[in-house]
Amino acid sequence: MKKHYGEYLAWLTVLLLIFASAWQLIGGFYQRQVLSQQQDYLEKKGELLIRMAKTPVSQEDLAHLSEDYVTASGERVTLLDGKGNILHDTFDPTLQGTRSDRPEVKTVLQGGKLGVSLRESDTLDQELLYVALPITVDGQLDKILRIAEPTAGFMAASGGVRRSIFVVYSVLCLLITLLILHFLRQKNRPIEKILPVLKKMVAQPEKTELIMQTSPQWQELYQTINKLSEQLTETYQAYTATENQLHTLLNELMIGVFILDDQKQLIMMNPTMKEQLGLYGKLQLPSEFAAIIKDPSLIQLIYRVSPQQPVLQEELKLKLPEEKVLDINLRLFNEQQQLMGISYDLTRIRQLEKMQKDFVGNVSHELKTPVTSLIGFTETLLDGAMADPDTTREFLQIMQQDARRLERLIKEIIQLSKTDNPPSYELQPLKLATIFEQLQESFRHLLAEKQVQLRFEGDAPETWYTSRELFYPIVKNLVENAIQYSPQKSEVLLHWEETPTGALKLSVQDQGIGIEQEDQARIFERFYRVDKARARHSGGTGLGLAIVKDYTESLGGSVKLDSHPGVGSRFTVLLPRNVPHQ
Ligand code: ADP
Repeated sequence: MKKHYGEYLAWLTVLLLIFASAWQLIGGFYQRQVLSQQQDYLEKKGELLIRMAKTPVSQEDLAHLSEDYVTASGERVTLLDGKGNILHDTFDPTLQGTRSDRPEVKTVLQGGKLGVSLRESDTLDQELLYVALPITVDGQLDKILRIAEPTAGFMAASGGVRRSIFVVYSVLCLLITLLILHFLRQKNRPIEKILPVLKKMVAQPEKTELIMQTSPQWQELYQTINKLSEQLTETYQAYTATENQLHTLLNELMIGVFILDDQKQLIMMNPTMKEQLGLYGKLQLPSEFAAIIKDPSLIQLIYRVSPQQPVLQEELKLKLPEEKVLDINLRLFNEQQQLMGISYDLTRIRQLEKMQKDFVGNVSHELKTPVTSLIGFTETLLDGAMADPDTTREFLQIMQQDARRLERLIKEIIQLSKTDNPPSYELQPLKLATIFEQLQESFRHLLAEKQVQLRFEGDAPETWYTSRELFYPIVKNLVENAIQYSPQKSEVLLHWEETPTGALKLSVQDQGIGIEQEDQARIFERFYRVDKARARHSGGTGLGLAIVKDYTESLGGSVKLDSHPGVGSRFTVLLPRNVPHQ
């Protein structure tokens, strides 16, 4: 609106200037018209006087004629001789001297038929219109008749007409101005109506803005704008809904997604991708991709994508700091303007595959050793060694040991396979003190042999509702390892308590050799042994802790290890409370 006031003001100024200049022209033209008419009149009158006087025109004659025809009308007549000297003047009969320097006289003296001049009179001190006419005798300039009239007289008479013209002119100008302003307003009206609505539409596209105005002239325009606003709102809402869906989808997707623009600026990265790259906290987007994606192999892969090679797929091993295996798919899209990366986390799958492979390899290896030994001894016996009863006895004892080891291995493999495909275990209340007494009994020989003291510590809970089939092997394996890897004359402590959350916290602590930090993460793997020779010698299979971990997890719990080489180890098992079925 305010902008239009400026426009109106500019128009008014221009109009005013045009009207003023036009009036200036009209006024000048009118004045020239009046002067020219008066000049004609004076010329005619002069000619009449010359004709009425006797030839040659005498001073007295003219004085006489002037008295009758001129003096009453306020005009002034001057008779000059052929050189421009005053002979007679009707205003001042005593006036003398030359007027040859006056423009009108000069013209006639130079042979002109008519001399005209408009100027201030030296004698009368007012503006006069002078007209000079030659009086000739035989074609020769004899005298000059000059007739003059004050302009004030005839200008005043024409002043009334001039005023009337001015009034009519002013009214006309006013009408033109009003008309122009009206057209201007008409022209600006739709802009004044539509502009604020358009501004609101841009600022809040989710709201429909309507023009509630009935104007036959602009109706169609207003209706179109209203329709446009409705369509914009609908499109915007549809767009926001789609964007929300996409956003949710990307946030929830278990696949990592990121997008780079044509300038290699990272413009989008979903939470899964951030997690896969080990990025935490909010990202400042857009930003240079290499400032966020730090892994050299992934950076190289991104640089390898080009219009000649718009799709790339590779399995990358990232160290961030723990190793991750990602299957990365890169492709150019949006007419090769942007690059989209899709990443699947294969870490777990690859780990499982490796574990499976290792397991099969380890099982074959572990089974092969006692079997080879058994075959070797039976062959030796059959080849004749059987004849010596002492050798036979010694060999049979070794064979029995190997067979027991085989039996144990097979038993533990079967135990492990149970948790891979767990049946539903029967839960029952177990008296913990009784379980621990049974443990003491089963390790009596080993404890005596190593002179290790096994202590139990804990009052509550007295009973624990769990599966004996899973619970017993957990504690048995932990206690067996603790005794096994303890030095002579040391102590193993089995401690249990109920946590504030109602879980059972059970720990087995020894004063044994301890486990190096680098081995701690791996000892729960199947067949993993810190010192293979020593462990095998101790009768270990490398499956004990794998069973502990699998069974604890089957019961919904977790196992933790604190260990320092040369000081001892503490394995802590946390089992959640099972609610007995009523
Ligand atoms: P194993 O049958 O060989 O004992 P486990 O799975 O029970 O197999 O244990 C894996 C490895 O962890 C063992 O070979 C041993 O090196 C180490 N280990 C287990 N318990 C202890 C412990 N209490 N102290 C020291 N090392 C232990």
